[in-house]
Amino acid sequence: MLPRLKPISVVRRPAEVILVGRSLELTYLADPDGSVAALLEVLARGAHPVAGLPAAMGERGFTVTEADMAAAVTALDEVGVLLRADSDAGLDPDTRRRYESNLRFYDLFAGLQRPGAAFHRAMRDADVLLLGAGGVGSGVLQSLVGLGAGRVRLVDFDMVEEKNLARQFAYAHGDIGRAKVDAARDWAARYSPGTTAVEAVHERVADAGTIRRLGAGASVVVSCIDSPNDIQLLVNEACFALGVPFVTGGLQYSTLFYWSVEPGVSPCRLCLELNRADEGAAGEPEQSVVLSAEFVNRATGPVAQVLAGFMALETGRYLTRTDPPVAAATYHTFELADGMRTTREPWPRHPACALCGPAAAA
Ligand SMILES: [Zn+2]
Repeated sequence: MLPRLKPISVVRRPAEVILVGRSLELTYLADPDGSVAALLEVLARGAHPVAGLPAAMGERGFTVTEADMAAAVTALDEVGVLLRADSDAGLDPDTRRRYESNLRFYDLFAGLQRPGAAFHRAMRDADVLLLGAGGVGSGVLQSLVGLGAGRVRLVDFDMVEEKNLARQFAYAHGDIGRAKVDAARDWAARYSPGTTAVEAVHERVADAGTIRRLGAGASVVVSCIDSPNDIQLLVNEACFALGVPFVTGGLQYSTLFYWSVEPGVSPCRLCLELNRADEGAAGEPEQSVVLSAEFVNRATGPVAQVLAGFMALETGRYLTRTDPPVAAATYHTFELADGMRTTREPWPRHPACALCGPAAAA
């Protein structure tokens, strides 16, 4: 295996070098004699196994042992700046070409133990249950197809209407009147033939049992539907029964939100409901709803695309484990009408939660 330095910036200062890593994170390495900078230059070529590094360093005037080099390579791998020179090994040339930019994205998270190709394979082995083929759902589908997800079961009961064409870019004018799931499946087949298998399920989701049935074998569930009213709790219940994580989100007035739940790991959506009920009981004056806001769809194209993108990224984290899910039991909001203010609020596990509290474990 040939270790190679990732394409990062390295800054030289007197007696030290600075590595500019992912997220522009800086790593300072003492380098009084210049040997670290020399090693980084050698590693940037990715041409030598560890056993060959002493000779390459010798050519630059430094006497080092193989044990020194093994320790240095391990230390550099731990700060996340190395990958295998053959990071794409095992993938056929078509796959390498088709998914080149995805593979380079995965390199950011790859290391000597996990090459970029492993992340792509995890995506190719993915089986996603995608609920909803509207603005957000069809956008998530487009991202999943671009990422090379192996299989998507797409569930929706609606037909394509003219008004959808403002923001549902998987559909064209000629699709009006067709079932969205059929049109979306056909879009995927045209866009990337023979990669993602999209199964179109023309069905209305109204109970947890349906979600459980459709989600059998899924690696993750993505919920992009907003009815019935308790859909989040239904998806939560079904995903706990399946032991499968789920990602969801939506738009309320001008506020985008998304969050996810990983059964067995994170607190669940029922915990959030119970926490809110406690907060209400603890001090808020009694209140009753006088007028309930009528549901109005205000999602423009860019809004649907932004939300679909965040949800697809979170879905990708569950599927490939590039980095830990950022929205597990964490409510993320983006306030589109207020200078793009963002918030991020984790919620705790509720002790009385029937799904994930101590009572459930007993
Ligand atoms: Zn819970």
